[in-house]
Amino acid sequence: MAAIEPDAAVGLCLRCRHVHVVRSRTGGRFYRCERSATDADYPKYPRLPVRSCDGYESRGAPGTGQPPRGPGGAAGPEPAPGQ
Ligand code: SF4
Repeated sequence: MAAIEPDAAVGLCLRCRHVHVVRSRTGGRFYRCERSATDADYPKYPRLPVRSCDGYESRGAPGTGQPPRGPGGAAGPEPAPGQ
């Protein structure tokens, strides 16, 4: 039997900025959707794998608090002092 890749077993939650990974003492991992705290449309622990989700936002996407990246992955210019 072929092994299931972690990405395939979890789906979108694996790379979503709204997920919080909870680790059990036995080494298990549970993917808690933080959107569930404010929106009842999202289950606290989604049934995996999640293949489609309107609330999905990629980690590192614009608006996530990550610094913008320039071409080639370089950090953008720092603002001049006093700005
Ligand atoms: S918003 Fe969707 S993709 Fe993101 S953690 Fe919640 S259920 Fe998963």
